[in-house]
Amino acid sequence: MSEIAENIKDICSRIQKAAERGRRGADEVKLVAVTKTVDAERVNEAIRSGIRSIGENRVQEAEEKFKLITERVEKHLVGHLQTNKAKKAVQLFDFIQSVDRERIAQEISRRAKDLGKAMEILVEVNTSGEETKFGVHPDKALPFIETISKLEGIKIKGLMTVGLFSENPEEVRPCFKKLKKLFEKIKSANLPNVEMKFLSMGMTNDFEVAIEEGSNMVRIGTGIFGPRG
Ligand SMILES: *Cc1c(COP(=O)(O)O)cnc(C)c1O
Repeated sequence: MSEIAENIKDICSRIQKAAERGRRGADEVKLVAVTKTVDAERVNEAIRSGIRSIGENRVQEAEEKFKLITERVEKHLVGHLQTNKAKKAVQLFDFIQSVDRERIAQEISRRAKDLGKAMEILVEVNTSGEETKFGVHPDKALPFIETISKLEGIKIKGLMTVGLFSENPEEVRPCFKKLKKLFEKIKSANLPNVEMKFLSMGMTNDFEVAIEEGSNMVRIGTGIFGPRG
Protein backbone atom coordinates (compact mmCIF):
# COMPACT_ATOMS: atom_id res chain seq x y z
CA MET A 1 0.00 0.00 0.00
CA SER A 2 1.32 3.50 -0.83
CA GLU A 3 2.08 5.99 1.91
CA ILE A 4 -0.85 8.18 0.89
CA ALA A 5 -3.21 5.19 0.95
CA GLU A 6 -1.94 4.21 4.39
CA ASN A 7 -2.37 7.74 5.71
CA ILE A 8 -5.93 7.86 4.41
CA LYS A 9 -6.72 4.54 6.05
CA ASP A 10 -5.30 5.78 9.35
CA ILE A 11 -7.22 9.08 9.19
CA CYS A 12 -10.46 7.23 8.38
CA SER A 13 -10.10 4.95 11.38
CA ARG A 14 -9.40 7.94 13.63
CA ILE A 15 -12.48 9.70 12.20
CA GLN A 16 -14.53 6.61 13.00
CA LYS A 17 -13.32 6.45 16.60
CA ALA A 18 -13.92 10.16 17.15
CA ALA A 19 -17.41 9.85 15.64
CA GLU A 20 -18.17 7.00 18.04
CA ARG A 21 -17.05 9.14 20.98
CA GLY A 22 -19.41 11.83 19.68
CA ARG A 23 -22.15 9.16 19.40
CA ARG A 24 -22.40 9.43 15.65
CA GLY A 25 -21.54 7.24 12.68
CA ALA A 26 -18.34 7.75 10.69
CA ASP A 27 -20.47 8.01 7.54
CA GLU A 28 -21.86 11.26 8.92
CA VAL A 29 -18.44 12.91 8.66
CA LYS A 30 -17.23 14.07 5.26
CA LEU A 31 -13.48 13.99 4.68
CA VAL A 32 -12.13 16.75 2.44
CA ALA A 33 -8.50 16.13 1.45
CA VAL A 34 -6.75 19.50 1.33
CA THR A 35 -4.48 19.37 -1.71
CA LYS A 36 -2.84 22.81 -1.68
CA THR A 37 0.82 22.59 -2.81
CA VAL A 38 0.30 18.88 -3.62
CA ASP A 39 0.94 17.98 -7.26
CA ALA A 40 -1.78 16.45 -9.42
CA GLU A 41 -0.13 13.04 -9.53
CA ARG A 42 -0.35 12.68 -5.75
CA VAL A 43 -3.89 14.05 -5.72
CA ASN A 44 -4.85 11.37 -8.26
CA GLU A 45 -3.20 8.79 -6.05
CA ALA A 46 -5.35 9.95 -3.11
CA ILE A 47 -8.43 9.70 -5.33
CA ARG A 48 -7.46 6.15 -6.32
CA SER A 49 -7.20 5.45 -2.58
CA GLY A 50 -10.80 6.49 -1.98
CA ILE A 51 -10.81 10.28 -1.59
CA ARG A 52 -14.05 11.76 -2.98
CA SER A 53 -13.70 15.45 -1.99
CA ILE A 54 -10.70 17.73 -2.35
CA GLY A 55 -10.00 21.25 -1.08
CA GLU A 56 -7.77 23.96 -2.50
CA ASN A 57 -6.98 27.38 -1.07
CA ARG A 58 -5.94 29.26 -4.21
CA VAL A 59 -8.03 29.64 -7.34
CA GLN A 60 -5.09 29.86 -9.72
CA GLU A 61 -3.36 26.76 -8.37
CA ALA A 62 -6.65 24.87 -8.51
CA GLU A 63 -7.28 25.88 -12.12
CA GLU A 64 -3.97 24.40 -13.28
CA LYS A 65 -4.28 21.26 -11.21
CA PHE A 66 -7.92 20.42 -11.95
CA LYS A 67 -7.03 20.02 -15.65
CA LEU A 68 -4.92 17.03 -14.61
CA ILE A 69 -7.56 15.45 -12.38
CA THR A 70 -9.58 13.08 -14.47
CA GLU A 71 -11.99 11.58 -11.96
CA ARG A 72 -15.12 13.40 -10.94
CA VAL A 73 -14.58 14.49 -7.33
CA GLU A 74 -16.24 17.18 -5.25
CA LYS A 75 -14.14 20.36 -5.24
CA HIS A 76 -14.04 22.79 -2.32
CA LEU A 77 -12.45 26.21 -2.08
CA VAL A 78 -11.26 26.53 1.51
CA GLY A 79 -9.03 29.61 1.23
CA HIS A 80 -9.75 33.33 1.18
CA LEU A 81 -11.39 34.53 -2.03
CA GLN A 82 -10.79 37.88 -3.70
CA THR A 83 -13.62 39.43 -5.72
CA ASN A 84 -11.59 39.42 -8.95
CA LYS A 85 -11.33 35.62 -8.68
CA ALA A 86 -15.01 35.01 -7.96
CA LYS A 87 -15.96 34.11 -11.51
CA LYS A 88 -13.22 31.49 -11.81
CA ALA A 89 -14.08 30.13 -8.38
CA VAL A 90 -17.73 29.70 -9.32
CA GLN A 91 -16.70 27.86 -12.49
CA LEU A 92 -14.19 25.57 -10.80
CA PHE A 93 -15.67 24.63 -7.45
CA ASP A 94 -18.70 22.79 -6.09
CA PHE A 95 -18.42 24.49 -2.68
CA ILE A 96 -16.95 27.81 -1.59
CA GLN A 97 -16.27 27.49 2.14
CA SER A 98 -14.81 30.93 2.82
CA VAL A 99 -17.62 33.46 2.38
CA ASP A 100 -17.10 36.11 5.04
CA ARG A 101 -18.23 39.47 3.66
CA GLU A 102 -21.15 40.90 1.73
CA ARG A 103 -19.06 42.07 -1.19
CA ILE A 104 -17.79 38.56 -2.00
CA ALA A 105 -21.24 37.03 -1.52
CA GLN A 106 -22.66 39.55 -4.00
CA GLU A 107 -19.93 38.83 -6.51
CA ILE A 108 -20.41 35.06 -6.23
CA SER A 109 -24.16 35.59 -6.64
CA ARG A 110 -23.70 37.73 -9.76
CA ARG A 111 -21.27 35.29 -11.38
CA ALA A 112 -23.33 32.24 -10.50
CA LYS A 113 -26.44 33.81 -12.02
CA ASP A 114 -24.49 34.57 -15.22
CA LEU A 115 -23.37 30.96 -15.39
CA GLY A 116 -26.79 29.57 -14.54
CA LYS A 117 -25.40 27.88 -11.45
CA ALA A 118 -26.58 27.72 -7.85
CA MET A 119 -23.34 27.99 -5.91
CA GLU A 120 -23.19 26.13 -2.63
CA ILE A 121 -21.39 28.13 0.03
CA LEU A 122 -20.39 27.96 3.66
CA VAL A 123 -19.98 31.04 5.83
CA GLU A 124 -16.56 31.31 7.46
CA VAL A 125 -16.62 32.36 11.10
CA ASN A 126 -13.65 33.61 13.11
CA THR A 127 -14.03 31.63 16.32
CA SER A 128 -10.56 32.28 17.74
CA GLY A 129 -10.62 36.07 17.71
CA GLU A 130 -7.13 36.07 16.14
CA GLU A 131 -6.74 39.14 13.95
CA THR A 132 -4.84 37.18 11.32
CA LYS A 133 -7.83 34.92 10.73
CA PHE A 134 -10.55 35.50 8.17
CA GLY A 135 -14.23 35.02 8.94
CA VAL A 136 -17.16 36.96 10.30
CA HIS A 137 -17.35 37.68 14.02
CA PRO A 138 -19.58 35.07 15.72
CA ASP A 139 -22.03 37.78 16.85
CA LYS A 140 -22.39 38.98 13.26
CA ALA A 141 -22.93 35.57 11.68
CA LEU A 142 -26.73 35.41 11.96
CA PRO A 143 -27.41 38.94 10.63
CA PHE A 144 -24.81 38.36 7.90
CA ILE A 145 -26.52 35.14 6.82
CA GLU A 146 -29.93 36.86 6.91
CA THR A 147 -28.61 39.50 4.54
CA ILE A 148 -26.88 37.24 2.03
CA SER A 149 -29.67 34.65 2.06
CA LYS A 150 -31.64 37.05 -0.12
CA LEU A 151 -29.10 36.84 -2.93
CA GLU A 152 -29.92 34.70 -5.96
CA GLY A 153 -27.49 32.11 -7.26
CA ILE A 154 -26.14 31.05 -3.89
CA LYS A 155 -27.25 28.38 -1.46
CA ILE A 156 -26.07 28.67 2.13
CA LYS A 157 -25.18 25.19 3.33
CA GLY A 158 -23.41 25.67 6.63
CA LEU A 159 -20.50 27.13 8.56
CA MET A 160 -16.73 26.80 8.45
CA THR A 161 -13.99 27.80 10.86
CA VAL A 162 -10.25 27.53 11.23
CA GLY A 163 -9.76 27.12 14.97
CA LEU A 164 -7.15 28.71 17.18
CA PHE A 165 -3.60 28.11 16.00
CA SER A 166 -2.25 25.78 18.68
CA GLU A 167 -0.33 22.56 19.00
CA ASN A 168 -2.73 21.46 21.72
CA PRO A 169 -6.15 20.46 20.34
CA GLU A 170 -7.75 20.92 23.77
CA GLU A 171 -7.05 24.65 23.42
CA VAL A 172 -9.02 24.64 20.17
CA ARG A 173 -12.06 22.87 21.66
CA PRO A 174 -13.79 26.11 22.80
CA CYS A 175 -13.68 27.39 19.19
CA PHE A 176 -15.47 24.27 17.99
CA LYS A 177 -18.03 24.44 20.81
CA LYS A 178 -18.74 28.02 19.86
CA LEU A 179 -19.29 27.20 16.19
CA LYS A 180 -21.53 24.23 16.96
CA LYS A 181 -23.69 26.43 19.18
CA LEU A 182 -23.94 29.04 16.45
CA PHE A 183 -24.78 26.34 13.90
CA GLU A 184 -27.72 25.15 16.02
CA LYS A 185 -28.91 28.71 16.62
CA ILE A 186 -28.90 29.53 12.91
CA LYS A 187 -30.56 26.22 12.11
CA SER A 188 -33.41 26.96 14.49
CA ALA A 189 -33.89 30.42 12.95
CA ASN A 190 -35.25 28.56 9.88
CA LEU A 191 -34.26 31.21 7.36
CA PRO A 192 -35.41 30.80 3.76
CA ASN A 193 -32.59 29.64 1.43
CA VAL A 194 -30.46 28.59 4.40
CA GLU A 195 -29.81 24.94 5.12
CA MET A 196 -27.48 24.34 8.06
CA LYS A 197 -26.21 21.01 6.76
CA PHE A 198 -22.41 21.17 6.96
CA LEU A 199 -20.34 22.11 9.98
CA SER A 200 -16.83 22.30 8.54
CA MET A 201 -14.25 22.27 11.33
CA GLY A 202 -11.14 20.28 12.13
CA MET A 203 -7.75 19.98 10.44
CA THR A 204 -4.85 17.53 10.87
CA ASN A 205 -3.98 18.64 14.40
CA ASP A 206 -7.46 18.97 15.81
CA PHE A 207 -10.00 17.00 13.73
CA GLU A 208 -10.76 14.44 16.43
CA VAL A 209 -11.71 17.13 18.94
CA ALA A 210 -13.73 18.88 16.22
CA ILE A 211 -15.71 15.69 15.50
CA GLU A 212 -16.34 15.16 19.22
CA GLU A 213 -17.80 18.68 19.24
CA GLY A 214 -20.12 18.03 16.30
CA SER A 215 -18.13 18.58 13.11
CA ASN A 216 -19.44 16.72 10.08
CA MET A 217 -16.80 17.91 7.63
CA VAL A 218 -13.05 17.78 8.30
CA ARG A 219 -10.38 19.32 6.07
CA ILE A 220 -7.14 17.39 6.19
CA GLY A 221 -3.92 18.11 4.30
CA THR A 222 -0.74 17.23 6.21
CA GLY A 223 -2.26 14.09 7.71
CA ILE A 224 -2.74 12.67 4.22
CA PHE A 225 0.08 14.13 2.14
CA GLY A 226 2.74 14.85 4.77
CA PRO A 227 4.30 18.23 5.59
CA ARG A 228 4.01 20.92 2.91
CA GLY A 229 7.39 21.87 1.45
C1 LIG B 1 -4.37 24.13 4.76
C2 LIG B 1 -5.76 24.12 5.25
C3 LIG B 1 -6.30 22.98 5.86
C4 LIG B 1 -5.53 21.70 6.08
O1 LIG B 1 -4.55 21.88 7.05
P1 LIG B 1 -3.69 20.66 7.62
O2 LIG B 1 -3.21 21.13 8.94
O3 LIG B 1 -2.57 20.44 6.65
O4 LIG B 1 -4.56 19.48 7.71
C5 LIG B 1 -7.63 23.04 6.27
N1 LIG B 1 -8.37 24.16 6.12
C6 LIG B 1 -7.89 25.27 5.55
C7 LIG B 1 -8.77 26.47 5.42
C8 LIG B 1 -6.56 25.29 5.11
O5 LIG B 1 -6.08 26.41 4.56
